[in-house]
Amino acid sequence: MESCIFCRIVKGESPCFKVYENERVLAFADINPIAEGHTLVIPKSHAENLWDILPEDLAAIHLASQKVAHAIRTALKPSGIAALQLNGRGANQMVMHYHLHLVPRVGQAPELPITVWDLKPGDMQAIERTARRIAAALA
Ligand code: AMP
Ligand code: ZN
Repeated sequence: MESCIFCRIVKGESPCFKVYENERVLAFADINPIAEGHTLVIPKSHAENLWDILPEDLAAIHLASQKVAHAIRTALKPSGIAALQLNGRGANQMVMHYHLHLVPRVGQAPELPITVWDLKPGDMQAIERTARRIAAALA
């Protein structure tokens, strides 16, 4: 896709700080890092989001993310890594080419804001109702 920045990176038309690649997947540094070592793992073949991506590419991304996570652990000794993936404008997806964020927390760096939220018990009946609706849509 010509207008897609990540497709241009895959084709070598835009630069990136490459971390890893195989025949299906490319991993490179995020240029607006939330934390040191913030890395993106993408399919080489354009797909916008979790709804569109080929299952083979999705599997390849998750296998590659484990390799990259091991490398991040070796290189940076993080106390943890958040794996985060946004789908659709409503979830604040900005680049419409599927990407998995790997965000390590290194040393005394501040908490990763994306991992911090209040745990408040929900309405169990509403939770059950919604879970049933989702399960029914899978049937
Ligand atoms: P989002 O779509 O909200 O999950 O985030 C898109 C991410 O892509 C952001 O963290 C950007 O910093 C990152 N990004 C956008 N353009 C580039 C680029 N050319 N190279 C590396 N990272 C990028
Ligand atoms: Zn693309």
